[in-house]
Amino acid sequence: MLVGVLSVQGSFMEHAQLLREMGCRVRAVKAVEDLQGLSGLIIPGGESTTIASLLKRNKLAGALPPQLPIFGTCAGMIMLARRLLGRHKEGQGLLKRMDIEVERNAYGRQRESFEADVELSWDARPFRAVFIRAPRIVKHGPDVKVLAWHKATPVLARQGSNLACAFHPELTEDDRVHRYFVEELICAD
Ligand code: GLN
Repeated sequence: MLVGVLSVQGSFMEHAQLLREMGCRVRAVKAVEDLQGLSGLIIPGGESTTIASLLKRNKLAGALPPQLPIFGTCAGMIMLARRLLGRHKEGQGLLKRMDIEVERNAYGRQRESFEADVELSWDARPFRAVFIRAPRIVKHGPDVKVLAWHKATPVLARQGSNLACAFHPELTEDDRVHRYFVEELICAD
């Protein structure tokens, strides 16, 4: 299985490392031709304004096959959202693949970054989640399935072949969220 990691900006190396440790082949995706033969794609966290403009400039935004499983973390989640709240530039929330409304930097200055245990719907053990200037899902449609919560806020959600995560699962040794992406969205398809 070949999983792509969008490698234009942000924490792409950590995602790639985690996938490799799980036994996946990994390709750094920077251009449209890198999409050929991929089983799935991760859009990492970083700065959503930068990621959005690179996705557009490299023509990747329009070239992503609709059925390709995509896992967006943090800024990547912002890319997947149907609608953005708060300050944002035109073009963020670019891909509109999930029926979620997302507020950028929703946790406020004093708590811009923090760690917390979140509950995963499919596993009883808590997941230690790292939130870095995290976005928040403020609303979601009926086709969106929430897979993890933090204080009654959804922090991991799925719609069809798309998975969105408000925190940074690549910054911990725990691979359960990546495993979910690979096993449930890529392999189960
Ligand atoms: N706050 C960032 C943004 O809106 C996202 C932060 C992150 O990806 N860690 O782009």
